[in-house]
Amino acid sequence: MAFSSILGQTKALTLLNRALASGRLAHAYLFAGPDGVGKTTAALDLAATLLCRRPEAGGPCGRCPGCLKFRSGNHPDFVRIRPEGAAIKIDQVRELKKALNFAPFEGGLRIVLLEEVQTMRREAGNSLLKVLEEPPPGNLLILTGTGAGAILDTIVSRCQVIPFTPLPLDLAAAVIRQHRPELDAAGSEALAALADGCPGQGLALEADGILVLYRRIVAELAGRQEKAAVRAERALALAVELAEAKEGMEPLFTLLRIFFKNAMAARSGRDAGRTLPPEVEQTRERWNLAQLSAKMATIDLAEQALARNCNRGLVSEVLLLDLFDCSPPLT
Ligand SMILES: [Zn+2]
Repeated sequence: MAFSSILGQTKALTLLNRALASGRLAHAYLFAGPDGVGKTTAALDLAATLLCRRPEAGGPCGRCPGCLKFRSGNHPDFVRIRPEGAAIKIDQVRELKKALNFAPFEGGLRIVLLEEVQTMRREAGNSLLKVLEEPPPGNLLILTGTGAGAILDTIVSRCQVIPFTPLPLDLAAAVIRQHRPELDAAGSEALAALADGCPGQGLALEADGILVLYRRIVAELAGRQEKAAVRAERALALAVELAEAKEGMEPLFTLLRIFFKNAMAARSGRDAGRTLPPEVEQTRERWNLAQLSAKMATIDLAEQALARNCNRGLVSEVLLLDLFDCSPPLT
C-alpha cells in the first residue's frame, strides 16, 4: 500500500490515495505543513509508487527495476532538489527547466521533488512558475514547504495543496519510537510534546543530546536528597553542560517546564488515575504547589534572561541552583 510507513496525516493521505486510485493526478502538488511531520516521507512514497512498474495494492512492489533503481537512489526519472545553502537558487531552477525539456528516460513519468520551497526568493520562484503551471508532458512536480503562509503565493496558487499537520502526541511518540526503539515511553512522549507533535523535530532534538541532559537533570531532581553542598556541586557541573547546549537550552527549558507541570498536576491530584512518568512520581511529595510554581517561574526567568542575551553560563547556574534548592535565601 502507498504511504504505509506514515502514521496520522489522514486528510493528506486520503486526498493522495484517492488521486492515485482514480489515476487523476494533479501536475504539481505542494505538501505544506510544519517540519518533521512526514511531508518528505510521503513525497518519496508517492514517487516510489508512481515509478513502480508493477504496483501492488496501490503501492510500490519493491522488486521491479523501477523500485530497485528508486531505492538505490539511481532512478533516472527521479529528480530531487534541495536548498543549496539557505535557499533553492535560481540556477537550480534553470538546470531543472533544461532537464525537463527532455522526455523521461524510461518513457513513463518523471517525478521532480523540490524540498523546502519556502526558501525560494521571488526571482527563483518566478522562474519556476511556468513549469508549475504547465509542466512538459510526462512530468509531475511535488513541492514540500513549511506552512502555506511562508511560501510565495504565486507558487501556492499553481499547485494542489496537500495539508500536513502536527500529530496527536501519542502518535508522534510512536513515530519517534519507530526510529529510536531504545527510547522508553517517557522519553519519546517528552520529545513528542517538546516538538509539538512534529516527530521529526523531536528526533532532531534527541540527536542534539538534549534528552540525555534533561534526563540527568531530572534524575538529580528525583533522586535521593543529598546535602546542600553536594547538590550545589552537581548543579554547577550540569550548568556547564547546559550552557554548552546553546540552541538546545530553550528546548530543555520546555522539557523542564513539562516536568514541573506534571509534578504540579500530580500534587494537586488533577491527574488521578493517569500513569505518571516515574521521575514525577518520585518528586510528587518533595515540593508543595507554591514551591513547584516558584520553580516554573524560575524557568521563565531563565528563558527571559536568555532572550536578553545574558551570559549562558550564569543563566544556567542560577537556574539549576534554584531547581536543586541551593539558592541562597532571599534577604
Ligand atoms: Zn515496483
